[in-house]
Amino acid sequence: MPSILIVEDEPALVRGLKDAFASRGFDVLTAQDGATGLDLALSTNPDLILLDIMLPRVNGYEICRMVREQGLEMPILMLTAKGQEEDIILGLNLGADDYIGKPFRIAELVARVNAFLRRSKAKQAEVFRFGDFELNLAAHKLFRKDREVELTPREFRLLAYLVSRRGCALPRNNILNAVWGHSIVVTPRSIDRCVATLRAKIEPSYIQTIRDIGYRFEPEP
Ligand code: CA
Repeated sequence: MPSILIVEDEPALVRGLKDAFASRGFDVLTAQDGATGLDLALSTNPDLILLDIMLPRVNGYEICRMVREQGLEMPILMLTAKGQEEDIILGLNLGADDYIGKPFRIAELVARVNAFLRRSKAKQAEVFRFGDFELNLAAHKLFRKDREVELTPREFRLLAYLVSRRGCALPRNNILNAVWGHSIVVTPRSIDRCVATLRAKIEPSYIQTIRDIGYRFEPEP
């Protein structure tokens, strides 16, 4: 039974989420303030955390940071107010994986949670399959139906980065730092160009643009 920790201070929302996940077979823990949420996250190591940002006592950013500092790697999905791109990017930089804007449909949230849980199970593999494609991280090769797809080294690094964080919202700066490094002068346009050439070599829909934030690799579009 997967375990989920819900940290949210709106009582009605907590009740709704708790019922929704419990009725689908989840083991549900809830906290209505940040300090309790942080304690539960560290002491119970749940499979996934749903995390509100504005919380009494300890806010969601601090929880993200502390959880990652302790080396816990479960997916963290932020529950955010609409149109808060700066807050979303801050949360992603502190270790959250993705976000869902309030108000959201429960069915959509459950689907996202289930996708994350499936992926975190499969995350360690060196070979990753999506659609007709097979990305071999050890061999540095991409195949489509057993035929190799030629990628530049940069395109390969970008794809490997995206795939290893599939389903996660990835801010442009994080992608730049990981794929291009800190040492050379690049601009956000460099990412856009590399994404464009990579999209042309795979199905474009796998790499979703997230407006004002960055990109998300979605293996099950
Ligand atoms: Ca709140």
